[in-house]
Amino acid sequence: MDTPKQNKYDLNKYSAILAKEFKLVDKLNSTARQSSAERAWSAIARFYDNCKRKIPGKKGYPRFQKNNRSVEYKRSGWQLDNQTKKHITFTDKNGIGRVKLVGSRDIYFYNQEDIKRVRIVRRADGYYCQFCISIDVSEELEPTGKAIGLDVGLKYFYVDSQGQIEENPKFYRSCEKRLSKLQRRVSDKFESCKSATNNYLKAKARCAKYHLKISRQRVEHAKRLARCVCTSNDVVAYEDLQVKNMVRNHKLAKSINDSGWYQFRKWIEYFGVKFGKITIAVPPQYTSINCSNCGEKVAKTLSTRTHSCPHCNYTDCRDKNAAINILKKGLSTAGHTGTWLQDSQNAWGEGTATLAGAIQA
Ligand SMILES: [Zn+2]
Repeated sequence: MDTPKQNKYDLNKYSAILAKEFKLVDKLNSTARQSSAERAWSAIARFYDNCKRKIPGKKGYPRFQKNNRSVEYKRSGWQLDNQTKKHITFTDKNGIGRVKLVGSRDIYFYNQEDIKRVRIVRRADGYYCQFCISIDVSEELEPTGKAIGLDVGLKYFYVDSQGQIEENPKFYRSCEKRLSKLQRRVSDKFESCKSATNNYLKAKARCAKYHLKISRQRVEHAKRLARCVCTSNDVVAYEDLQVKNMVRNHKLAKSINDSGWYQFRKWIEYFGVKFGKITIAVPPQYTSINCSNCGEKVAKTLSTRTHSCPHCNYTDCRDKNAAINILKKGLSTAGHTGTWLQDSQNAWGEGTATLAGAIQA
């Protein structure tokens, strides 16, 4: 950045200049150019923000993006078939033309004005069309009068404060054998110094599809559980884990990535907003060490599976003890934290105070 006064609108304008220079940019719809300029800008902004906040570790220096798999349109460059909404026509210079929309989701019920953005994404098994629709998704649910604390782990997917255990499905681990076989086939068919053969490309596509399948299983699983947790509780407390920092531990990285904590948390927060539930991320310090009964610190190693307190003789599963601590922490902060309460949703805060009292009683 030579001149400090450049902002993201300059980047948008610059993409128009680039369009004159590069044919591939010129082919794009102007809003598609803008979207990718916005993305580049957000990458730069995130990097500067991370530096300013001095977050530990890598700051995410923006990298050149190659092999882009998606393009985003705003309000122009595409047109849905008015009557059926089963076909979409892309009207930029790339000549995609009219394509049929297959799949189970029906966008027939949405107005074209509500569709703010349309994205074409390439995945291993085909092309997908994503629609960003601006609608109110919130649903009213009867209050359940229940609060729950979740302790996510590697042994189990989570243990809640009632002592309920949700097993870890280990999608990646269970598919590892087949995956390595597919991977081996790819490398068998690779011949250096030659252009990629058809068989090599086929093997590669098969491997990529399998990866996609595993990641979809993981997402669906996390989503299903998160939905279940949010519908059957009013308050959900969980640890504010920095998964990014934890996967740096190479011995655990695979298991942590495989367990899908990140997805789980993301969907809990999504369903929390959707169903008007309270979701609280609590700092993870001491949750497994403290005794949930008397509050004393009881040191234990990772392999100690039971928590037994010498101060009050309370004995329980280690993860349940942690889950109770998480719930307590969550409830104690829920009344006076301001970060997750938006102005329009202040009613939530009042709900918390009464609920917390009801549960402790
Ligand atoms: Zn104790």
